[in-house]
Amino acid sequence: MRAVIVGGGIAGPATAMALRAVGIDSLVVDANPADRGEVGSWFTVAANGVAALAAIDALEQVRGLGVPTDRNVMVSASGRTLGTVPLGSARPDGTVALSFHRTRLAAALTDLARRRGIEVRTGARVTGAATGDRGARVTLDSGEVIAGDLVIGADGINSVVRAAVDPRAPERRYTGLANFGGVTEHTPLAAALDPGAWRLVFGRRAFFGALPTPSGDVVWFANVPRPPVSRQERAGTPLEAWRRTLVDLAAADAGPFRDLIAAGRLDLAGDNTFDLPHVPVWHRGRLGLVGDAIHAPAPSSGQGASMALEDAVVLASCLHAAATPEAAFAAFEGRRRERVEGIVAEGARSSGFKTAGPVGRVIRDAVLRAVFHRIAARRTQAWITDHRVALPGLQADRPA
Ligand SMILES: Cc1cc2nc3c(=O)[nH]c(=O)nc-3n(C[C@H](O)[C@H](O)[C@H](O)COP(=O)(O)OP(=O)(O)OC[C@H]3O[C@@H](n4cnc5c(N)ncnc54)[C@H](O)[C@@H]3O)c2cc1C
Repeated sequence: MRAVIVGGGIAGPATAMALRAVGIDSLVVDANPADRGEVGSWFTVAANGVAALAAIDALEQVRGLGVPTDRNVMVSASGRTLGTVPLGSARPDGTVALSFHRTRLAAALTDLARRRGIEVRTGARVTGAATGDRGARVTLDSGEVIAGDLVIGADGINSVVRAAVDPRAPERRYTGLANFGGVTEHTPLAAALDPGAWRLVFGRRAFFGALPTPSGDVVWFANVPRPPVSRQERAGTPLEAWRRTLVDLAAADAGPFRDLIAAGRLDLAGDNTFDLPHVPVWHRGRLGLVGDAIHAPAPSSGQGASMALEDAVVLASCLHAAATPEAAFAAFEGRRRERVEGIVAEGARSSGFKTAGPVGRVIRDAVLRAVFHRIAARRTQAWITDHRVALPGLQADRPA
């Protein structure tokens, strides 16, 4: 059996490696050129995603790119700690979660897939997909048609394969937050931050996050409540102007963000963030979907990449067990839908807290203190972060 996988982000190469582990060949095609540089910002792969990386035997190969992280420390604009949210249970070696530069992790997974003999074609944009009785195919923008026994859309939130599965599939939804990300290198401000913890500040005018790295840098981001950044605004606003705006937005808050951003380099500016809460149709014939293509959470959930990695493992298990790809896609949906839609709903709730107005802020901080206390005391996020997936014949590692 041979699968054509559309998308070489997180879900694509992970699915290809999971399929390889159960004896299914695949070809990965991605629209991006081979060397697209380091675009995007940092994200965290929580304990459930780390376990999925281990399940496809990729954890040790990418571990060095990640910053060990075990908790989010939530702070108010006045600098008061609102609570601490654990990112899951530790593996036997002590690893909880790892924070990665997004494109570095995607590139490392792609390299690893190639080293395992999987063909990955870059610069190949898929414009359509179709299913038949005994196979499926994609069409590239060059006009070339690539056929396989099945097609898996791992092509992210704007998925072309999703539209081929269901032309009436819903579109992504703007979360109300534009994202900015950067780094401040070798900064003494790192000393004020806890190693292994994201410091997340519900600021007066924006939401900020910062993580110190072992090399003495601090990576940071800002989520700014505002209408979506238009193409013209993005093209017409120099990075330096965005950076000054962020310094201004952080000025009234306690803590390091004003100084961090003033001394730092902005790498990502005006990135509108979206979610995709419910996709009614997940598969049609021999076309199926994984990752953000079917369940994109708001970035606030911190779970998009982890869910994409879980999908890879579960879909490979289903394809291994089922008699046909159609049956495997149905089994995959049965195992995944409730969980992923629950996580996307959690992400939408978290995004809502970031966009409170001045009056709502006092109430919000009081509510958040209660929420974070409950999360920590009763481990109410454990159903998300302590979930474990495994390939057939291998045991899922259990949270300690
Ligand atoms: C600001 C921000 C912060 C985030 N923070 C976190 C976090 O802390 N933790 C977390 O787990 N997740 C986080 N996420 C979410 C995470 O990035 C995504 O959920 C994850 O990347 C999804 O993986 P994917 O492979 O499904 O999609 P993507 O990573 O988007 O990959 C899709 C791939 O498909 C390719 N593609 C698209 N269309 C085509 C086409 N027509 N033909 C060929 N190729 C195509 C693209 O080039 C891309 O490489 C964040 C997201 C954002 C935007």
